[in-house]
Amino acid sequence: MKRILVTGGAGFIGSHLCVRLLEEGNEVICLDNYFTGSKRNILPLFQNPLFEAIRHDITIPFHAEVDEIYNLACPASPIHYQFDSIKTIQTSVMGAINMLGLAKRVKAKILQASTSEVYGDPIIHPQTESYWGNVNPIGPRSCYDEGKRCAESLFMNYHIQNRVAIKIIRIFNTYGPNMNQNDGRVISNFIVQALKGEDITIFGDGLQTRSFQYVDDLVEGMVRMMNTGDDFLGPVNIGNPNEFTMLELAQNIIDLIGSKSKLIFLPLPQDDPKQRQPDISLARQKLGDWTPKIQLRDGLQKTINYFEELLKEG
Ligand code: NAD
Ligand code: UDP
Repeated sequence: MKRILVTGGAGFIGSHLCVRLLEEGNEVICLDNYFTGSKRNILPLFQNPLFEAIRHDITIPFHAEVDEIYNLACPASPIHYQFDSIKTIQTSVMGAINMLGLAKRVKAKILQASTSEVYGDPIIHPQTESYWGNVNPIGPRSCYDEGKRCAESLFMNYHIQNRVAIKIIRIFNTYGPNMNQNDGRVISNFIVQALKGEDITIFGDGLQTRSFQYVDDLVEGMVRMMNTGDDFLGPVNIGNPNEFTMLELAQNIIDLIGSKSKLIFLPLPQDDPKQRQPDISLARQKLGDWTPKIQLRDGLQKTINYFEELLKEG
């Protein structure tokens, strides 16, 4: 049994990761300031004596004797990370320094949840890990993109300078149950709008693309990444390479729900990436043939079921 710290454990991905780590018989400490996460996401876990949740902001140092740290704390939706952009940078940068400092002191392995956003509006397609990206350093997305890029640099430098065992994954658009219904990301927006019969908000012409990964596939990749024997591995893309336009996504959701919602077209936010698709050759090679198993319509159906229940709760 390991003692594992999950920062951002009450968030969408973090809550699924906590479940998985507990199922494997580990002790789990969830750290969260509940900015975008919720106690609802982790409520069932309190029945397990191996689970502990602590309200804590990772911009403040934290100490606990742990074997592994998964660093997920950071708002991930553009509307939330832009709400207080300076705080987002603090969370990414100071949070990384605090968690790396902890890993150094207690000799824990640490995994960083980085993002496909480090590639910005990519010119290389699909994106391989060797691509350095195309990020506007002063644009509205930069608090997140540059914060995450700086965190990757901190992880690398703590490894080189202090021999901390590090892993870096670059997560591509991921969805599933436990997303916040006001999250603002495209899948939760479209599903909630379609369930309520409201207009579906397409930003721009809807021809921009994303490649959507169901959360269970991500969690499998994350755990495999932490468990490789390497003292250093990454960055490794974790995503599902099946790529869709936002129009295709909207149509899939409308069909699955049988919704009467209409599409409306709103302005495209500044610096919105035009295309995104992971090259996952490295993940397949390094993570024991890891490959995403859940394809879009199956994953959407599970997510629709979740939001249906959530909306009934009111
Ligand atoms: P989320 O917003 O649901 O979860 C983030 C969690 O971090 C929330 O519970 C929030 O309350 C917590 N948090 C935020 N700031 C904090 C702070 N200063 N101290 C402590 N807790 C704090 O988002 P998510 O989708 O679950 O994303 C989790 C991680 O994965 C993030 O680091 C995100 O950047 C990364 N990621 C997610 C995606 C995706 O598609 N979901 C893609 C790329 C990267
Ligand atoms: N998007 C949209 N309607 C919405 C929310 C988002 O058309 O209600 C678009 C957004 O402009 C982007 C894509 O969907 O092109 C994915 O947006 P999201 O915020 O989910 O993720 P990210 O842009 O960070 O990949």
